[in-house]
Amino acid sequence: MCKTICPVCGGGQTDTLLSLSNIPVFVNVLPDQLEEAKEFVLGTQHLAQCNHCGFVFNCEFEPEKVMYDTGYHAERGHSAYYSRHISRVIDFIESVKPVKGQRLLEVACGGGEFLAEAAKRGPKDVTGVDPSAPETAAEPLNLQKALFDDAYLEKMTCPADILMNRHMIEHILNPLEMLARFRRALAPTGILYLETPRLDWILENRAFFDFPYEHCAYYHDAFIERLLKAAGFEIAAMENSYDGQYFSICARKSTPQPALTPASEAELCAVRQAFSKLERTYTEINRAQAVPGFCAETRRSGKPDLHSDSTHPDGVFFWGAAAKGVMCANLLNQWPIAGFIDKNVHKQGKFIPGTGHPVLAPEQITYELVKTVIVENDVYLTEIQAEAGKIDPRIVVLSLSSLL
Ligand SMILES: [Zn+2]
Repeated sequence: MCKTICPVCGGGQTDTLLSLSNIPVFVNVLPDQLEEAKEFVLGTQHLAQCNHCGFVFNCEFEPEKVMYDTGYHAERGHSAYYSRHISRVIDFIESVKPVKGQRLLEVACGGGEFLAEAAKRGPKDVTGVDPSAPETAAEPLNLQKALFDDAYLEKMTCPADILMNRHMIEHILNPLEMLARFRRALAPTGILYLETPRLDWILENRAFFDFPYEHCAYYHDAFIERLLKAAGFEIAAMENSYDGQYFSICARKSTPQPALTPASEAELCAVRQAFSKLERTYTEINRAQAVPGFCAETRRSGKPDLHSDSTHPDGVFFWGAAAKGVMCANLLNQWPIAGFIDKNVHKQGKFIPGTGHPVLAPEQITYELVKTVIVENDVYLTEIQAEAGKIDPRIVVLSLSSLL
């Protein structure tokens, strides 16, 4: 059932932007058994835009379908690109407030890989909170397996000097409520570091596979600035990170506004038009009878032919069994995808939710098994090309973006 009331401003007028049905409700929970993967709970991503404030959200989102626990794995520490990103993020935070001697709190810390890096800069205290946090963590990390809710705030004894929140606010329908909690948890001179996917990047790149069910809220550049202002934050520094895919924002506390500034008609229209373009790309690529880049001719020329009717007996493998990969498996249902490759040990040997594709470790692949690899996220292309080249230089590695 589509909610017609905007969760941010309470506006009652929304426009439908995109509807993706029968997608798995989790992209970072991979079942151990094939049957379990095929019977995975599915949901609908019905994206609507509020005609008043411009918030883009899944109006059919059912939060009770998405309960995070220890089986949730979004670690990316095995990627050199990701490790560099983490280090840059900490430098970015330190350009606003040095970490040394500060109390750090990370909300949605996962396994604590980011906090462990931040801990190297000499903070006074390093706390992480997450319902999927492990029971134990190496010193000096203090990881708490809990939800960051009002009950948690009431038990907090000391406010945080730096509150970090990465890749969480896209998972909740009411970001204003969560930002108000961040504000309460921060010391008066505290800094909020916020990182979340940029809708502008998704739309500019027509990344139709970037709308996993877990992400029920989408933020574009103009909207997030208005949102933070309304929530009582002023932006101290803001940049696009991860090749433009994410916002990296440092914000200080200010006075909350009584209401969010409305979106302009031009802004609402630009989002609607960009979604139409993205939907056209998805329809066209899903209609292709053969996986582009799959035929011998394409391999030689390096140029994909979307309309080729030639097929190849070898299976194509996608490299990366996280959000983008799981969504590709479920959305590109005409493509003969044989399986996935992932370096995350928590994903290897498991199956893609919804479709049941197997996930292999790089050590398991050979040229006999894998002749073509598609990389969903360009930022990993160079490192995956190097890795695949070491396994067998004949393996063709293509980026998905080159096929769109
Ligand atoms: Zn609204």
